[in-house]
Amino acid sequence: MADSQRVLVVGGTHGNEVTGVHLVRRLQRNPQELTRDSFTAQTLLANLPAMAANRRYLEQDLNRCFTAALLNSEPQNGEQVLAHEINEKYGPKGADSPTDWIIDLHTTTANMGVTLVVQQHDPQAVDMALYVQQKMPDVVIFDENCTRDEDPFLCSIGQHSMLIEVGPVPQGLLRWDVFEQTARALAHALDFIDLRARGEDSLPSPRQADMYQFIEKLHLPRDEHGAICGMIHPELQDRDYRELSPGDPIFISVDGETIPFDYPESVHVAFVNEAAYYDQAHGLSLMRKRTVSWEGE
Ligand SMILES: [Zn+2]
Repeated sequence: MADSQRVLVVGGTHGNEVTGVHLVRRLQRNPQELTRDSFTAQTLLANLPAMAANRRYLEQDLNRCFTAALLNSEPQNGEQVLAHEINEKYGPKGADSPTDWIIDLHTTTANMGVTLVVQQHDPQAVDMALYVQQKMPDVVIFDENCTRDEDPFLCSIGQHSMLIEVGPVPQGLLRWDVFEQTARALAHALDFIDLRARGEDSLPSPRQADMYQFIEKLHLPRDEHGAICGMIHPELQDRDYRELSPGDPIFISVDGETIPFDYPESVHVAFVNEAAYYDQAHGLSLMRKRTVSWEGE
């Protein structure tokens, strides 16, 4: 079959999320893992300077540099220069991008297992996430509602994209369980692209799945100078995706005082005590869980 699909697997978009970096290096040594009947995927290690420094980024989060506005203006820092270069090589970003699929590999310090992040405007990606969930039933799906132009993620420069987020693992650290789950989710995603190309993805119609949608991030407790003065409550630590109701313990001050959840409704939580959030003093994300039905293509 002709090599009709251009597929890109990315690691190191965040330089201290080393699972994706080491998995991409394994794939580069073993290209058969990247090969299906209808394509051979390419690989990219996205932020080499941040990887060398074992930091998420040097000047600006690279995964916030791919909005249409930033890609169409003069770059202001190293990461924006990188974003322009990546967009030149694999884009240009848009519905006609020459790259059909981008799968970007990330990790989280939160106890989230395997989470797949897709965009509602990209039904093929939502199908991909459902396919992976059929193979790995514990997988959680985030369907974000962001236009292509406003989407700041690297993977948004492909026609279709999915971000694979696996945890818990500290920044800069490898764990086999997280590494292996990432590799498996990626392999299923590549299988899906190949099966879809041959019209054999075997998804039901109509399709249905539970999905989580981002509402907002909440700040950790801060003092009058804005310094962090509390942390995630022990009853909530490691309990990603659980439902949190008004009045439930959410934070605890450094003096041990419980701080209840002050919110008008019950919601679900994710990225609980995510280390990458501390630069903005955020403690967790609030999510809305819904059951979504959609027609197949
Ligand atoms: Zn990341």
